[in-house]
Amino acid sequence: MAHQTKYIFVTGGVTSSLGKGIIAASLAKLLQGRGHSVTIQKLDPYINIDPGTLNPYEHGECYVTDDGAETDLDLGHYERFLNVPTSQANNITTGRIYQSVINKERKGEYLGKTVQVIPHVTDEIIRSIKILGEKGTYDFVITEIGGTVGDIESLPYIEAVRQMCWESKIDCLVIHLTLIPYLSAAGELKTKPTQHSVKELLKLGVQPDILVCRTEHPLNDSIKKKVALFCNVAEEAVIESMDAETIYDVPLLMQKERLDDVVLKKLNCDYLNTKPDLTNWNKFLKRYKNPSHEVRIAIVGKYTELADAYKSIVEGFNHAGAEIEAKLKVKWVQSDDLTEANVERNLNGVSGVLVAPGFGDRGIEGKIATIKYVRENNIPFLGICLGMQCAVIEFARNVMGLEDAHSLEMNKETKHPVINLMESQKEVTNYGGTMRLGAYDCNIEKGTLAYDIYQNTTISERHRHRFEFNNEYKQQFIDNGMVCSGINSENNLVEIVELPSHPFFIGVQFHPEYKSTVANPHPLFVALGKAALAYKKEGQLV
Ligand code: GLN
Repeated sequence: MAHQTKYIFVTGGVTSSLGKGIIAASLAKLLQGRGHSVTIQKLDPYINIDPGTLNPYEHGECYVTDDGAETDLDLGHYERFLNVPTSQANNITTGRIYQSVINKERKGEYLGKTVQVIPHVTDEIIRSIKILGEKGTYDFVITEIGGTVGDIESLPYIEAVRQMCWESKIDCLVIHLTLIPYLSAAGELKTKPTQHSVKELLKLGVQPDILVCRTEHPLNDSIKKKVALFCNVAEEAVIESMDAETIYDVPLLMQKERLDDVVLKKLNCDYLNTKPDLTNWNKFLKRYKNPSHEVRIAIVGKYTELADAYKSIVEGFNHAGAEIEAKLKVKWVQSDDLTEANVERNLNGVSGVLVAPGFGDRGIEGKIATIKYVRENNIPFLGICLGMQCAVIEFARNVMGLEDAHSLEMNKETKHPVINLMESQKEVTNYGGTMRLGAYDCNIEKGTLAYDIYQNTTISERHRHRFEFNNEYKQQFIDNGMVCSGINSENNLVEIVELPSHPFFIGVQFHPEYKSTVANPHPLFVALGKAALAYKKEGQLV
């Protein structure tokens, strides 16, 4: 028999932010642990073509895949849990669906028909879902539908799910994530919102197979029975999802509730003869939860009020911390407020500093003041993207004596644009088209800190930026003691800079955080963690 991919849909009801992404990733982990190949896809009902143009305050971080897609941050969870790369096909928005429908209409592909939401938009949604299944490489495609059931925006997606279930019930399964609130005045868990939310789905023709119920208190049998009866699902398919200590506990909680068994049983797959192998996951959790040391590392950035804006960086610290059995505690430092006069006070108690990526000039001078301070005081430093660019500017101004050195992004008039636009980028005017996005190879010079960290002379890392190190100044930087230890062999761009005179000072033009996973903590984060521990122990590094 030909390989048949099974499709699992995850919808959300009652409220947003219930953690559909984590439930989808946890189920995928359990299926992967049984030897199945799984991928997860997110369908976002907003009209932007991708989240690349969104302010991080809207939806948090923009996650970048190897193929250069700018995607929803949930794809970061998928990669961190599964250790399998995602791509553009894993994140579709309403904007992208309509763009492709309208392109087809302009090309005359609808043969004179009136183009409508049903069937043309829904067909396009179904096509985007099946693209992953039809690769033939996945046993399961888990599709997370963004938004909350009942939203106008998500109607075509639910209709697409209905049609796919109708076409082949045995290959499709719907998991609905809801909330069972606890009313403290009544001392009771309330099932009504869940009932209403399932009715909402039923109105659209979709009967959920499994209900995953977020709750702050355990669901007793009578509650589960009641939900099952009123929502028309099997009792074993009412899954309790208690608030977890960490997101990395969720696969184990779901396993305890037998979510994977129920999914496999309903999809007519063997579930009795296999058990998920979570040995490595459990090893990670044990180390993550029982650190022997603790050290504070500052993240200096401009979106510090919203931890989701730096989601992958925070998770990178979590993975690295588990690796070196240390709790890497983040201290958020708002770059807007930093000056040379107050930076020492703001970094009090910190043993390492990460200067975050970003766009625009807000907070730039604060970042530069921070870098001057950590450079002069031998505090371990990692600069990512804009953080690396700021390190270059700081060095040019304060070591090379180029007082007005700047990035062309911030100051078009500067006499010393040490960060500028690449020739090939200068002509491009289309907003989304001007960035260097996705994976690029980089050659690392032996005998450098970068080589110590990566133990490799060629690496591949993901990018998301418009501006670059200006090679016209390269020799001047080298003459003053900066080492350009990572070079993109294709276009000769500087990707990594470091200062051998400092115990741990490294800036990278790419985003290492996108590639850190539970199974493969990123070496740069591990190295920063180690350097911070050593700094804390010695008072400073030697
Ligand atoms: N704004 C800078 C650029 O476009 C840095 C981008 C970033 O930090 N991701 O080059």
